[in-house]
Amino acid sequence: MAMRLLYSREHMQDSTVDECAGTRYPSQGMTLWWVKNLFMMTNARTASASPAPLVQNTPNSSGYFRNDCRLCHGTNLETFLDFGMHPHSDGFVRAEKLSEPEPVYPLAVNLCTGCGQVQISYIVKPEILYGSDDYLYDGAITETGRKHFRQMAKDIVQEFSVAPGSLAVDIGSNVGLLLATFREEGMVIQGVDPTPRMTKIAIENGLDTITECFSANVARRIVAEKGRASIVTGTNVIAHIDDVDDLMEGIDMLLTENGVFVFEAPHLLHLIEKRAFDTIYHQHLSYFSVKPIAAFAARFDMELFDVKEADIHGGSIRFCIGRTGAHAVQPAIARLVDRETKAELHSLKRMQQFTRDVHTLRHQLITMLQNLKDEGKRLAGIGAPAKGSTLLNFCGLNSSILEYVTEKNTLKVGRFTPGTHIEIVNDDELLRRKPNFALILPWNFAPEIKKNLSAYTAQGGQFILPLPIPKIL
Ligand SMILES: [Zn+2]
Repeated sequence: MAMRLLYSREHMQDSTVDECAGTRYPSQGMTLWWVKNLFMMTNARTASASPAPLVQNTPNSSGYFRNDCRLCHGTNLETFLDFGMHPHSDGFVRAEKLSEPEPVYPLAVNLCTGCGQVQISYIVKPEILYGSDDYLYDGAITETGRKHFRQMAKDIVQEFSVAPGSLAVDIGSNVGLLLATFREEGMVIQGVDPTPRMTKIAIENGLDTITECFSANVARRIVAEKGRASIVTGTNVIAHIDDVDDLMEGIDMLLTENGVFVFEAPHLLHLIEKRAFDTIYHQHLSYFSVKPIAAFAARFDMELFDVKEADIHGGSIRFCIGRTGAHAVQPAIARLVDRETKAELHSLKRMQQFTRDVHTLRHQLITMLQNLKDEGKRLAGIGAPAKGSTLLNFCGLNSSILEYVTEKNTLKVGRFTPGTHIEIVNDDELLRRKPNFALILPWNFAPEIKKNLSAYTAQGGQFILPLPIPKIL
């Protein structure tokens, strides 16, 4: 059977990066042309069994191109990686909507040559990304995640000697993992999260949550109702916020004089070194590193006084920000800035090398999966995380390659992956259907997945890890 990949191996082998980028994944100039001309993507983008037309929205209705750096407002932005048009990575498609047009938006990444900030160029409106009942990310779903957040809350309370009865505000509180632990530690809590389905769960568990995006206005309301906060946290959410000046205005209002704003975000260094290109999608507006964040905090008379590395999400940084002079600046900052500098993290040359690495990885992964299919092997995917969407769409992997993907989050089961329309089935199906190979899409949780699904390997199944170099485990 002829496999229907976006690129044939023959084409890929002889292609340069520029050709790859130009054929299916157009340059930003081309993307802009599409947007300006309201190009309708009616040709099937992937070889899905029942391809739906993908529709280009008008920029005004779905978002906008940001032409300045979010952190320093500099305008020297260099695009180093352009994925073309991608669907909303959490837009898991219901079966009855498979034949309907699916919206797609430009996805490209810029480097600010002024401060080193990395950010995507097109900002999709938050109400499209988070406002619907279709947002299905449940932070409580992995044991690794639960443990991490519980420990994080305990660490913060201990490290900053937070007194019982103090207020802790969690931005992007999701189902309330951090809030629940802060409450156990005797603190007054307040969650803020714009996703109704998740905040409903938090509220049902008695965790007071405002169902809105965090803003200076929301901060003002919290101060009026509950006073100022000793701790404000944000885990994997600050990179989702476009107007970070407004965020800092809110933080300034909220924090007590010795209060601490602690946020966790994946470290750009790991993204680059692990070739974790799949963590680039529309919800992730920023890809933070230490040097640009230190300069950013200083703009608000605040100070980045400590950073800690955490393993979660493939390598994150916990940034600790307080009022200038309120906390001793820790040597970890200089150490990490030094590592970033040695890795040439803020140079365009290094970013362009990353782009070449990513194109090589795509070629290797497609070739590996195609060869296995040619040998008559049956392939499935494990997990349907948002990052899986970038990987599947960028590599053009659809149901002709991966027959289905299995998922633990029952909210996603029965739906189809965005853009590539692979059916999502329950994790149990892996043991029942016994595919020869299973591609792990949430690779950052690979050890936990391997442990949970050891019965699959006991039956002779094999896992494939997509990055940093695709390999059969
Ligand atoms: Zn900048």
